[in-house]
This record gives sequence, C-alpha cells and structure tokens, in this order.
Amino acid sequence: MVSDNLKDVTLRIARCCEKAGRVPGDVCLICVTKEATVEAVREVVASGARILGENRVQSAVAKYHIIGDEVSWHLIGHLQTNKAKEAVRIFSLIHSVDSLRLAQTLDKEAGKLGKVQDVLVQVNVAGESTKFGVPPREAAALVKEIAGYHHLKVQGLMTIAPLSDDPEGARMYFRDLRELRDEMNGKNTAGYGLKHLSMGMTDDFEVAIEEGSTMVRIGRAIFGG
Ligand SMILES: *Cc1c(COP(=O)(O)O)cnc(C)c1O
Repeated sequence: MVSDNLKDVTLRIARCCEKAGRVPGDVCLICVTKEATVEAVREVVASGARILGENRVQSAVAKYHIIGDEVSWHLIGHLQTNKAKEAVRIFSLIHSVDSLRLAQTLDKEAGKLGKVQDVLVQVNVAGESTKFGVPPREAAALVKEIAGYHHLKVQGLMTIAPLSDDPEGARMYFRDLRELRDEMNGKNTAGYGLKHLSMGMTDDFEVAIEEGSTMVRIGRAIFGG
C-alpha cells in the first residue's frame, strides 16, 4: 500500500535525522510520482503528502489538472527552454536549472506572470556525461547571475549521485555538493543564502540526510517499481 510506504519512508527520514543530530522538519520529502498512477497519487496525497515531484512538464501538467494545487509541484527533471512557460505556471520549485539560457527564459516567463520563481541549480558533481547539470566549477557563476534576476530566486543546489550498488558510494558526491553550497554562502556578499540541498533518492536518501540534504526525492520506495 502506498500509504504504508509513505509512513515507512517518513519514519525512516525521522529516524535518520535523529541519528544525524538533525531536526526532522529540516528535511522535506518530495514524493516522485513520475511512475505512479493517478490512483496512487491520490492515495499519497490523501495520506498526507505535501510535495509531488515530476521529471517531465507534460506528465506533471496532466496530473496537475486532476490533483490540483492543494499540493506543491516540483520539477526535478531536465527542462527544455521551450517548456519554460508551462513550467512557471505550475511548479513552486524547479530543481533543474542548468544553463544561463534556461535561467534567462524562466526569468522572462515568470516576469510575465508577475511571479518570483524559486529554483535550484543542478550540479553534475560526478561529471557524468549522461547527466545534466553544470560542472561544479561553473555553479557559482550561474548562481551569481540568477541572483541578479528579478523573477527568479535561487534557493540552493541539486544533484543526482551516480548509480551504485552501495549507498555509501554516493556519500562523497553529496558531501561535495554541501561543501560547494557552503563555500558559495561563505563567499556571498550579495545577500543570497542558499538554504537547500536537493539530494537523495530511494537507494541513498539516508546517506544524503547524513550529509546535509534538505530535500529528498523519493519514488520507488513509495510507489514501488
Ligand atoms: C526518478 C527520480 C527520482 C526518484 O528516484 P527513486 O529511485 O525512484 O526514488 C529522484 N530524482 C530524480 C531527478 C528522478 O528523475
């Protein structure tokens, strides 16, 4: 049952926070619904889920029309510039900003709606050619650029760890992202505090929480698959 899985994941997050000396309220759970049926999404919302994550704009729009905005919608997957207009209409947070061009387009589209769009900069910490995200050495420049925009607010950084059989394999990448965030906040004189680290999925979220994650994106542990 999806509701039991949600309870179980919520408990695991709370226990992990306790062990790591963190407050459970510091870590939010994003229920990743990309593989879930509408029935399963309804059930998870009825069971108390507050944030849903989708990796594609089209499938998010379809679900959004059914489920509505009693929950928050986050875009966790790659965003093409030509979908920016639709994206700013429904997502409260876009985790996947990875280019100047995309940032500029989002700023323009958010401006048309009179909205300040919250975003994260996606960083390809491991430098995998198969993954989106800016290289770590380019992240600070993009964050700085976005901080100057009127209709975007950069709230932090996001990463996807390389696939691994062992959750411990992800630890160094999560640590790298945290250090990158802390370094940017330390050097920051412009007043942008990067609060969030979106990192950790079904196989590695506990390690991510130990390394400072504030947003875990969990699909399979809740919806199966
Ligand atoms: C699918 C997906 C997730 C969830 O992955 P699970 O292993 O199912 O928990 C998290 N983040 C991104 C970017 C995804 O595409």
